[in-house]
Amino acid sequence: MDEQNYTDLLKKVKSSVQKREEMKRFQIPKPETITEGKLTIIKNFRDIVGVINRDESHIYKYLIKQFGLSGDVADGRLIFKGKPPEGSIEKAFQEYLRIYVQCYECGNFDTEMIRENRNELIRCKACGAERPLFAHKEIKYTEGKIEEGKTYDLEITDLNRDGDGISIKGDTTVIIPGAKKGQKVTVRIDRIRKNYALGILVKKA
Ligand SMILES: [Zn+2]
Repeated sequence: MDEQNYTDLLKKVKSSVQKREEMKRFQIPKPETITEGKLTIIKNFRDIVGVINRDESHIYKYLIKQFGLSGDVADGRLIFKGKPPEGSIEKAFQEYLRIYVQCYECGNFDTEMIRENRNELIRCKACGAERPLFAHKEIKYTEGKIEEGKTYDLEITDLNRDGDGISIKGDTTVIIPGAKKGQKVTVRIDRIRKNYALGILVKKA
């Protein structure tokens, strides 16, 4: 191998390592919860906030509202005055990530909230896609994991940049080419990827 090729190869390896490092950074910590008397405390609140790059008080207010409790942020910990139902804190965090953080194109969480002509947008630092902040505001959280090859009745709640329909099923964003916003459709799940599933339009309602 000549020297030029070797240098190119080194560059390639380096950039792939860097990419992996970036992915690692976006391992979002799970909320660590403890109780002290009547208080429920998320010990690592500030760590989570730091990773997802959103305003601390924004996340705080969102969570407080979900549980109808009062609370406080002190020393990087979020303190609820009361006890949210078992498992609900984690679920509320996931919901927050879906609404305010996640890119609907590539699934990445490395995004920023920006304001453009009075609209708030989520811009992905990984793929450059943008979406309106409240694209999924009306979505009700539904239980259930999806499986490849199975069919589901879904409602198209949004479109992605390519004009493909988007629906949320449980924890998964389903992308359905050819479906239009507002349609109720039957979809067969073709492929499940880490951050989304690809659905084939079987029937329009
Ligand atoms: Zn993206």
